[in-house]
Amino acid sequence: MKSGVLARYRDRLPVTSKTPILTLGEGDTPLVRCRQLESEVGCKELYFKLEGCNPTGSFKDRGMVVAVAKAMEEGSRAIMCASTGNTSASAAAYAAHFGLTAVIIVPGGKIAQGKMAQAIIYGAKIVALSGNFDDALNIVRTLVEKHPITLVNSVNPYRIEGQKTAAFEIIDMLGEAPDYLFIPVGNAGNITAYWKGFVEYNQTGKSKIRPKMMGFQAEGASPIVQGHPIKDPKTVATAIRIGNPASWKKAEAARDESGGSIDSVTDDEILSAHKLMATKGGIFGEPASAAPLAGLLKLTRKGMDFSGKHIVCIVTGNGLKDTEVVLKNAEPFLNLPAEVSAVEKALGWK
Ligand SMILES: *Cc1c(COP(=O)(O)O)cnc(C)c1O
Repeated sequence: MKSGVLARYRDRLPVTSKTPILTLGEGDTPLVRCRQLESEVGCKELYFKLEGCNPTGSFKDRGMVVAVAKAMEEGSRAIMCASTGNTSASAAAYAAHFGLTAVIIVPGGKIAQGKMAQAIIYGAKIVALSGNFDDALNIVRTLVEKHPITLVNSVNPYRIEGQKTAAFEIIDMLGEAPDYLFIPVGNAGNITAYWKGFVEYNQTGKSKIRPKMMGFQAEGASPIVQGHPIKDPKTVATAIRIGNPASWKKAEAARDESGGSIDSVTDDEILSAHKLMATKGGIFGEPASAAPLAGLLKLTRKGMDFSGKHIVCIVTGNGLKDTEVVLKNAEPFLNLPAEVSAVEKALGWK
């Protein structure tokens, strides 16, 4: 099989003879069935798509490779984005690989450390603002109007094009679309992209059904659920700490056309799903990536019947990006002398 999103799905992407077909190995991520969690939900089959297995540890790579290739094709020498962390990590990596400059604008003090380390090591120019993501995106949008630099946030349509390939992969792997797709919603580009992918495959006969799109925001950052922008969004799930999503209308269209819903989950629900996904699935996502499972469990508790259904949850980013959240909430370890008997005693084996 061809490696990379551009080569593998070239006929379904805006690829021309001039598009540089480069890759860092993005896409083709695992779809893992999780039987222990299936029984908690009462569904037929429950899968997790591990987007944290992408080269920079999040789904952003799928869209970034297309956006950066098109920027290069169009003669751009630099790319720019606002980011809660993963977009900047991805932009920095692909800019480095393609030989471009990346400028990233991040909300100061609100980025998980792993993501910050990525932007630094890939050599991006980093500007931290004393504002939130929405402020950063506004500034970036103004700057790209005034300077010859390509915007690679998900308002760049090539990002959505690349990200839709994840929906193709699910159908290519399962042979059919699932009944439900559970996904976190931040700036709302990804739910838009998945829906586009599912619709395109359905229209060309690659699937018979289209999934219901089940989007989840964090309660403290739930503008779509509340119906108005949130000035000071708050949540432990930094990747979805967004108060005014750029693809708001498109996310609502995906919800409505699919017969799905966009709902919210609390930080407590996110953290307990985060832990459950790890302890019952062996899957370590970042907090935002636990919002889909948190949402699925919430609906199950409310009595929604998933019997006979096929469900896919998108684990959008790798847990290693945000270890602070785990270590902060961890029980203290035992500290013992280096003696077999002391360890046996502590483990209750003696
Ligand atoms: C970007 C991101 C999201 C949110 O995706 P949107 O397209 O902004 O809705 C969720 N989880 C992770 C890990 C992300 O990096």
